[in-house]
Amino acid sequence: MTSGGDAPGMNACVRAVVRTGLFHKMEVFGITRGYAGMIDDDIHKMDSRSVANIIQRGGTILKTARCKEFMTPEGRKKAYDNLKKHGINGLIVIGGDGSFKGAQIFSHEFNIPCIGIPGTIDKDIAGTDFTIGFDTAVNTAIDAIDKIRDTADAHDRLFIVEVMGRDAGYIALYSGIGTGAEHILIPEQKTDVEAVIKSLQEKEKRKKLVNILVVAEGDDFGGGNELADLIKERIPGFDIRVAILGHVQRGGAPSSMDRMIASRMGYSAVNCLMEGNHNVMVGIMNNKMHYTPLDKAIKAKQRINEDWLTMVKILAS
Ligand code: ADP
Repeated sequence: MTSGGDAPGMNACVRAVVRTGLFHKMEVFGITRGYAGMIDDDIHKMDSRSVANIIQRGGTILKTARCKEFMTPEGRKKAYDNLKKHGINGLIVIGGDGSFKGAQIFSHEFNIPCIGIPGTIDKDIAGTDFTIGFDTAVNTAIDAIDKIRDTADAHDRLFIVEVMGRDAGYIALYSGIGTGAEHILIPEQKTDVEAVIKSLQEKEKRKKLVNILVVAEGDDFGGGNELADLIKERIPGFDIRVAILGHVQRGGAPSSMDRMIASRMGYSAVNCLMEGNHNVMVGIMNNKMHYTPLDKAIKAKQRINEDWLTMVKILAS
């Protein structure tokens, strides 16, 4: 099943899981709409053809959902009864840390092995260098910001571009570095707005009016609009526009990288299940498959490399 926030590349992963399972003579079922579909018995047998022609498609053919009922013991019991009815004795969940929390509780309650695959554009899960969808989302953001820079340059404008990331600044960091942003504001680092203002005042003095500020939606200071209001008030000389990229970052054909990691992770998840593992997440570290206990993947976040933030300042000066 795919669960929680959708991410490009989930389909490539579903395809890999289904075909690897079938290769090993397993019966494979797809659960529609995540935990909600498990509770509603929206569970269907999959064959090789049911995942044909999806590797290149964004979204997820299994659909995804958030499900409050699964947070209750009664909801989970209903879900378990449905799995039992179909003879399902192992679960592969493609999703983010919320989905893994659900899988972990479920597995403890009913002793059913659950394997997690990190599918989230936010890249906010420990135990893996990449998550499915992140690379595509960053490329989408970079494509948009490059276009914004063209128009910013034509008009000598300052643009604030808000990208996705409620708790994690990876999309902002990667897309900001990739587009030569003058400032990158992320939740992992306390935003020093006075330093941003000072740097912009200095740029205004030397007539550098074209500036791109990339801000993660969950930055501690606020989103793009809050930042724009402050800069307008403090430095009226700048012609400021705000672009909020929003859900375009979730869609689109997965990049080559996302197709590759999705295929490798899906293939490994089935092997992991066959080896008798319970409650682990399949990830990739240093280009090798890596199993991490689900609770560790949930609790720890990836750490931002401090040196990258120093680099951003130096390269944008
Ligand atoms: P993501 O997997 O992208 O982080 P969510 O945080 O929305 O997305 O989690 C997806 C779903 O996982 C939730 O809607 C819920 O059904 C289930 N879930 C999350 N946390 C728990 C929990 N503590 N107990 C049971 N189920 C949970």
